[in-house]
Amino acid sequence: MGIGEEEGKLLKVLAGIYADMILEDYDDQLILETHPEGYHPEKRKPGQLCGIKGSGKALWFDEHGYKCMSCERALNENLYPKEIFYDKTQFYTDAYLSHYFNLKGKTLENWIAAGLLRSISIPGEKPDQIHFRIYLLIEHQGFLRLKALFEIMQVQTHEENGQESHSTS
Ligand SMILES: [Zn+2]
Repeated sequence: MGIGEEEGKLLKVLAGIYADMILEDYDDQLILETHPEGYHPEKRKPGQLCGIKGSGKALWFDEHGYKCMSCERALNENLYPKEIFYDKTQFYTDAYLSHYFNLKGKTLENWIAAGLLRSISIPGEKPDQIHFRIYLLIEHQGFLRLKALFEIMQVQTHEENGQESHSTS
């Protein structure tokens, strides 16, 4: 069974986009050979950790990929392990805790203050400003469920319910 004409067209378009993406990053990989410590790319890209887009002086590219300058500085100061760039299941973010655990706002701050959660704050540009917060899975073993498992459960729950239903007891 072959693919239809429409699917064929779509695949070609997707393959083209994918090739462009690889070529785009390939440029940076080449520059990295003469600038192994990293450099500021001119193109606009999202930081791998926080997802905030930047270019030029606001963006850094090195062996660990694209980073905004706040995330880059924090990495240089060893505030978080570089391994998390290679495995997104190793950490939670505020958005993740809110989405999957409904843990946010005052409750979240109370949990952190009580030592139930250990947050890593990535400082922003200005003093006392927090750019982004992460929570390493390795520091919350046996307390928060495994991230991957929880995501699978979440998907299943949505599929079973069709629409979200909440029961209070
Ligand atoms: Zn960032």
